Amino acid sequence: MSLNVPQPDELARDSGPIKLDAAEMARVSIPLVEPFRISSGEVRVKESLLLRLREGDFTGWGESSAMSGSFYSVETPDSCQRELAEVLLPAVLGRRFTSLLDLDGLLSELTSNRFARVAIETAAWDLVARRRSRPLHELLGLPRLPRIPCGLAIGLYNTEAELLAAIHRYWSNDYQRLKIKIKRGQDVSLVKAVRREFGEIPLFVDANADYTRNDFRVFEQLDDFGLMMFEQPLAKGDLEGAAMLQRRVRTPTCLDESIETLADARRAIELGACKIVNIKLQRVGGFLEALRIMQACAVHQIALWIGTMPELGVGSAQALPLTGHVGVAFPTDVEPSRRWYVDDVVDPEIQLHPGGLILPDEPGLGFEVDETKVDKFAVSRWQFKSGGGGFGTPQVNA
Ligand SMILES: [Mg+2]
Repeated sequence: MSLNVPQPDELARDSGPIKLDAAEMARVSIPLVEPFRISSGEVRVKESLLLRLREGDFTGWGESSAMSGSFYSVETPDSCQRELAEVLLPAVLGRRFTSLLDLDGLLSELTSNRFARVAIETAAWDLVARRRSRPLHELLGLPRLPRIPCGLAIGLYNTEAELLAAIHRYWSNDYQRLKIKIKRGQDVSLVKAVRREFGEIPLFVDANADYTRNDFRVFEQLDDFGLMMFEQPLAKGDLEGAAMLQRRVRTPTCLDESIETLADARRAIELGACKIVNIKLQRVGGFLEALRIMQACAVHQIALWIGTMPELGVGSAQALPLTGHVGVAFPTDVEPSRRWYVDDVVDPEIQLHPGGLILPDEPGLGFEVDETKVDKFAVSRWQFKSGGGGFGTPQVNA
């Protein structure tokens, strides 16, 4: 099947030359409204690296948003901070790139830390879009949806009663589906309880890789609940296992952690390891690789949806244009800012409206970064200039 969408590499080549001359980075820490727990760990504070790239008078924003504690990925805010400050920014600043494709090529040579490189790659796309006074979705070759369907994601709780109370607390009819986290020992009973309480609501489960090939019985039981998908049931490297599971259940299997590169996606497709892929900019390292994976999936009728770490507003806003891709078939995990954080750094904040989220039709990201908020939540800041120097000791807020 051929797709009537622009080739991702052509789009990146069309950006024209780019030469970044300076950058500022802030490490911010914003408390969550309540702890977020998945099968492998828990976070209470959102830590993120916000990056502003400069080319003359033009700027673009990016975010590096690995989860703290290395239980979702091996990368953490600390490892991303080091990679950006010591390796990637010194290599990129002052160098002339023929296009965003060229920049992507250098980043791929320099690092396998996709959670770090994503900040530079996405900020460069934003900068080019702002320089051209075009919204990002246009540069990405994607239409802008008038309303972006959005789903609610709920973490793990100690008891079923707490889980149901949390769903009641966060649910609004503007959400178009519910996803709950599961782990071994907390799975079928949770789904039963949610079905009992909320009826035939569009629902699915995310295991964050907690199960093994010995646990297929759990998914055979879950198969009777009419779920939209099983997200990442097995370890990220076990694509053969995922394919075995998919052959045993009717419910489509979705891969998240497993798909870090186009090569991963191709292998998963070849093995029949999934029917759905969750695309996260952070996990795949930027717009270009995301578009490449989305293209490969769409050609093979693998349905897509757009996930989140979750990121702060910059990373969340970047996810929104991807929802216009022809292969996207399910609501996004991007939720309003106040669902997760006591505050956010973008203006306007990400908000949920009847029918979904709204991506403003403005140049670049469509959202501005509120620098007073960045100042308020920054724990460290750095400035970088081309031609070396300026890396020294970070300015640390008191
Ligand atoms: Mg997931």
